[in-house]
Amino acid sequence: MTDKIRRFLRDQQPATPCLVVDLDVVGENYDRLHRLLPRAEIYYAVKANPAVPVVRLLAEKGSCFDTASIHEIDLCLSAGAPAERLSFGNTIKKQSDIAAAFARGVDLFAFDSRAELEKLAAAAPGSRVFCRVLMDCAGAEWPLNRKFGCELEMARDLMLQARDLGLDPYGLSFHVGSQQTDLEQWDIAIGRTMMVFTQLNEAGIELRMLNLGGGFPAQYRRDIPALEAYADAINRAVERHFGNRMPRLIIEPGRGMTGDAGIIQSEVVLISEKGYQENRRWVFLDIGKFGGLAETMDESIQYRIRTPHDGGETGAVVLAGPTCDSADVLYDKADYKLPTALRIGDKVEIHATGAYTTSYSAVGFNGFPPLAEHYI
Ligand SMILES: *Cc1c(COP(=O)(O)O)cnc(C)c1O
Repeated sequence: MTDKIRRFLRDQQPATPCLVVDLDVVGENYDRLHRLLPRAEIYYAVKANPAVPVVRLLAEKGSCFDTASIHEIDLCLSAGAPAERLSFGNTIKKQSDIAAAFARGVDLFAFDSRAELEKLAAAAPGSRVFCRVLMDCAGAEWPLNRKFGCELEMARDLMLQARDLGLDPYGLSFHVGSQQTDLEQWDIAIGRTMMVFTQLNEAGIELRMLNLGGGFPAQYRRDIPALEAYADAINRAVERHFGNRMPRLIIEPGRGMTGDAGIIQSEVVLISEKGYQENRRWVFLDIGKFGGLAETMDESIQYRIRTPHDGGETGAVVLAGPTCDSADVLYDKADYKLPTALRIGDKVEIHATGAYTTSYSAVGFNGFPPLAEHYI
């Protein structure tokens, strides 16, 4: 909680639920990543928080952007980021959207399959393409499973095919899983991709770029290593595997850029019990899974929650959202405890919610409006 956010909440008393983001923190996160990983170019993963003030600030700082759709591309362009600084990083794109991006000057595209490569060759001829390779995402609190990426052997073949299709076989990418806390994972991933660099080199293709993806953390309930430790692990791994044949490096922080910059303020709507023998209270907030806290799915992301009664006696709770959907339970198994003094109408703060919240909130489920947002 920054002073700026505290003052805003106190003076403005905004209606809840709402997200308040301190843009200074976003700027500091950018500067820190830039300072700690000076060799890597930063492509902010827009999907984490696509708010115009965030994108504009980062564009002014010289950031590049990893975009997932033609809509995010247009958002970045209108916020002042030139097309040369955009990457169309989704491996699942309509051919018409590829053509539209190419027409706007975007020249850097991700893919992980032969069929996508053919779309790129048809709609963005000669453009720079990079192949996403599969990682198992061990150690990540929000793993990305097998939806994205292909196996190394296939990646090698696809890069050869990219050349034959008239595209520029530019590099490889991976993502070690979001909110990754096992720093070894970058070494494993960089080592594996290095092997494909070598194999392709022997086949006459000199890859020029390695995209190290996201995975940088926000501070939730569990402890995380310092950002310095992430940078160390990554710097050491690229040195070890690439030495003096260093390609251009890209990182795509989403959560690590905006997560810690935001706080959601929420209000307690109901506190109840399910029976006379129950010793767990049910605490219903005015925000739930459909109001922006989608990452509580499977209780994966466990936010820090602050109340006006912190420090007093606590008791076990189930935390749930306000909608008439039984899936709208935030934490049941994760062992949350809240002060016994908590009352209906109390304001609670949900910390480190600047990433993957507003962009996940439903447009009007049960009639609740999308999560309100304030950028200060
Ligand atoms: C979502 C995503 C990111 C951002 O991941 P974080 O873990 O939030 O940093 C980066 N790159 C790609 C391709 C993504 O899809």
